[in-house]
Amino acid sequence: MSLWLDARQRAMLAAMGVRVWQPTPTVITPSPEAAPVPAPRARAPAPAAPVPERPPAAKPAAAPVAAPVAAPVPRQPLPAGLSQMDWRGLEEAASVCQACGLCETRQRSVFANGQRLDNAARTDWLIVTDPPTEEEERNATLVLGTEGELLDAMLAALGLSRQAAQASPSVTVVPVLKCRVPDNRNPHPDELQQCRAYLARQVALLQPQVILAMGRWAVQSVLSDTSAQLAALPLGKQRGQVHQFANTPVVVTYTPQSLLRTPLDKAKAWADLCLAHSLTRRP
Ligand code: SF4
Repeated sequence: MSLWLDARQRAMLAAMGVRVWQPTPTVITPSPEAAPVPAPRARAPAPAAPVPERPPAAKPAAAPVAAPVAAPVPRQPLPAGLSQMDWRGLEEAASVCQACGLCETRQRSVFANGQRLDNAARTDWLIVTDPPTEEEERNATLVLGTEGELLDAMLAALGLSRQAAQASPSVTVVPVLKCRVPDNRNPHPDELQQCRAYLARQVALLQPQVILAMGRWAVQSVLSDTSAQLAALPLGKQRGQVHQFANTPVVVTYTPQSLLRTPLDKAKAWADLCLAHSLTRRP
């Protein structure tokens, strides 16, 4: 529809109260005074600016000397024949192992504490704990101080001791990782994976009647052969049942450190120890 309204249409809209605006066509007539726009003149070339004398090139500043960075220790595969080693050979292999990054910050490896740790060793209880702390590394002893006192008291209630020489039933404590984890960070999965070979060989040599896996990292390592899904569960959901590692019954429980933080869990830990005790042949 054309937007142009004739006089009659405009009168009808006006009668309806609709006001419309109709543009009036404008005819533009050129002004006689308008001077023709001259064509632009070609721009005369500007005189060449004097070329400043190039200043002498500045001497590049000497790059800051970077502090020497310690070259990372190249990773090595796990020692050949590890699964055939005797106790002493295995301990020596761990002390120089370079199969994971923890070898770079290791002062010394912590292999095991307990009774009768010789090549003919057997144990009744094998306790797998967290990786060694700085203090444990320094002393080459696991579960020290208040935590150690709590563990010893709980073991004593079952007639067990990790100190008494030639005690029966015997108790051996091993760390899940033989080398300390720096800066209190969590162990990496590949570190747990690599070091599990040492743990498996320790179990094969010690032939424990029961394994008590204490804490998240020990449990993760020990149960990962059974089921990765099970190993990833919170510890509270893994305890109260008997698992298996290398054909050995496994009971899961809290670390003494965790029990000191959450004393309400002590009753559960005691129930775990009683469950482990029920799996041993000797009272
Ligand atoms: S933590 Fe275990 S695998 Fe890693 S370097 Fe130490 S002994 Fe070897």
